[in-house]
Amino acid sequence: MAKLYFNYGAMSAGKTIEVIETAYKYNSRGMKALLIKPSIDTKGNDSVTSRIGMSKEVDIVLKPDDSLIDYIKNYENLTCLVIDEAQFLTEKQVYELVIITKNFDIPAICYGLKVDFKGNLFKGSEALIRYADSLNELVAICDCGKKARFNARKVNGEYVYDGEQVLIGADESYDPLCETCFLNKVLIPHSKEFQKILKRG
Ligand SMILES: [Zn+2]
Repeated sequence: MAKLYFNYGAMSAGKTIEVIETAYKYNSRGMKALLIKPSIDTKGNDSVTSRIGMSKEVDIVLKPDDSLIDYIKNYENLTCLVIDEAQFLTEKQVYELVIITKNFDIPAICYGLKVDFKGNLFKGSEALIRYADSLNELVAICDCGKKARFNARKVNGEYVYDGEQVLIGADESYDPLCETCFLNKVLIPHSKEFQKILKRG
């Protein structure tokens, strides 16, 4: 039975490089790996682009209302699905991946962020954590040298804690931070909830 994989990590963990490499490994051997990305990610339009400049055109740009099952019916002899920015999948699309892997016997390899800039799970990632057969963490490195699991948002060079979950194409940037640096640089200075807890202590 085919498996559903979720390879997650913070920004700069090299997820898109692995996406491109995984698709290449299959396609260069004459197999068909279908490369997919959700449309909410507008950077690169019809392609996936890594931070070190590698880029590859995708087969499907998936809109939130699109059905993955409808799409894959158009292809014959699919070896696997490779999905970038999988945190933007809807819960329903993740359920479709469960059906595709279990009933259509086609593996699905997903790459994405686990948490947003506040440290909350993305909807797609939450569903993938619940249903994936295999979870694998890709490592990004914090400024202090420890493993980074959080994505701190910076606007005009300052860490921020308020704002929308998704701001693609805006003027913000993200730093991968470890738990300790995220707590001390973002949560304690900017989160009312954390400040309240500390005052009581
Ligand atoms: Zn750190």
